[in-house]
Amino acid sequence: MEAGFEIECVVIGAGVVGLACARALALAGHEVLVIEKADDVGTVTSSRNSEVIHAGIYYPENSVKADACVRGRIELYDYLEARSLPHRKCGKLIAATSGAQANELERIAAHAWKNGVDDLEMIDGDAALKLEPALNVTSALVSPSTGILDSHAYMVSLLGDAEDNGAVVAYRTEVISGEVLSDGRCRLICGGAERTVLTTRYLVNSAGLDAPKIARQLEGYPAKLVPEAFLAKGNYFALTGSTPFSRLIYPVPEPGGLGVHLTLDMSGQARFGPDVEWIEAIEYVVDPRRANKFYDAIRAYWPDLPDNSLVPAYSGIRPKITGPGQPNADFRILGPEDHGVEGQVHLFGIESPGLTASLAIAERVTRLLG
Ligand SMILES: Cc1cc2nc3c(=O)[nH]c(=O)nc-3n(C[C@H](O)[C@H](O)[C@H](O)COP(=O)(O)OP(=O)(O)OC[C@H]3O[C@@H](n4cnc5c(N)ncnc54)[C@H](O)[C@@H]3O)c2cc1C
Repeated sequence: MEAGFEIECVVIGAGVVGLACARALALAGHEVLVIEKADDVGTVTSSRNSEVIHAGIYYPENSVKADACVRGRIELYDYLEARSLPHRKCGKLIAATSGAQANELERIAAHAWKNGVDDLEMIDGDAALKLEPALNVTSALVSPSTGILDSHAYMVSLLGDAEDNGAVVAYRTEVISGEVLSDGRCRLICGGAERTVLTTRYLVNSAGLDAPKIARQLEGYPAKLVPEAFLAKGNYFALTGSTPFSRLIYPVPEPGGLGVHLTLDMSGQARFGPDVEWIEAIEYVVDPRRANKFYDAIRAYWPDLPDNSLVPAYSGIRPKITGPGQPNADFRILGPEDHGVEGQVHLFGIESPGLTASLAIAERVTRLLG
């Protein structure tokens, strides 16, 4: 990057959400620069997740998460199909193992309906056994519109669309600080191979785990509207050998989480997780001892899980804006009407279903920028 230049729109972060925003802005005819501190796209949370296209079942009614997930999922399938990108609408089963859990499934189905998820089907244990013979359940809720995708192929495609429409990515460049100027533009100070100063009319802060830190470093942005950042690591264990399941299998959610569930990747490999481990600093090591809890939880719905079949796989960190014991926060996507700073949108707490919702989030961001 040259020192001291002017650009119409800057997007900070080339994760899946930043890329979707850059694409939408470039398609709308704007000049876009994406600033990314890593040397490639999607190297942080966007490549450390379950790669599930969520239906939108559990999010609170009328939340941004529910709305963006349901609309984003429909747009995402259309996008992936139109470009023949790897994905599979494999469906998911939410498995009940007791009468009490069966009642809970009824409640979940009613809630999902209010979110606009209108294709769930309740089935009994025998029907579940026909679909997934290894499963030991009393009843299940089938979600046909849940699926999986190759998230990297998706991000490469978003990048291609953005670049085809004139967007440029500056890799190995870190936004360090900035200030809001009296005419409404924003001056950003970036580090990297060389220190760079640039000014921009529109700013999208899509820096994932670092979004609150960046907002705090922006002089002129109201500090009281920067949420506290919390880190909730999610560990995955891979199943060695082949899986008997062809759909994603989730237990009935328990207080605090979705429970240890099985997801599949595009190559058919099964993995379990993510669990929830609150941490103070970013690190991605998976402690093999956490497997013990996984075995017990999985055997509730898959009793034949063999001993010693789980190996540590990888982990991702949820960019939380509420801490342990507090209710889950909604996506916090703040535009000029919320924070009073012209031409800026800040995205906080973009945890799951951020991948599914990415196209819908990008629409919301461009709308907020006017
Ligand atoms: C364990 C786990 C499982 C998940 N599973 C799913 C799922 O199955 N389905 C789903 O829909 N969603 C899922 N999600 C959510 C999804 O992964 C995220 O919502 C999404 O990846 C967020 O993308 P992002 O672009 O906001 O952030 P990121 O991917 O983190 O990108 C932010 C980018 O900003 C860059 N950056 C940071 N600071 C700076 C700076 N100062 N200057 C320049 N660049 C900077 C980073 O290098 C990074 O590339 C999951 C999340 C986790 C943690």
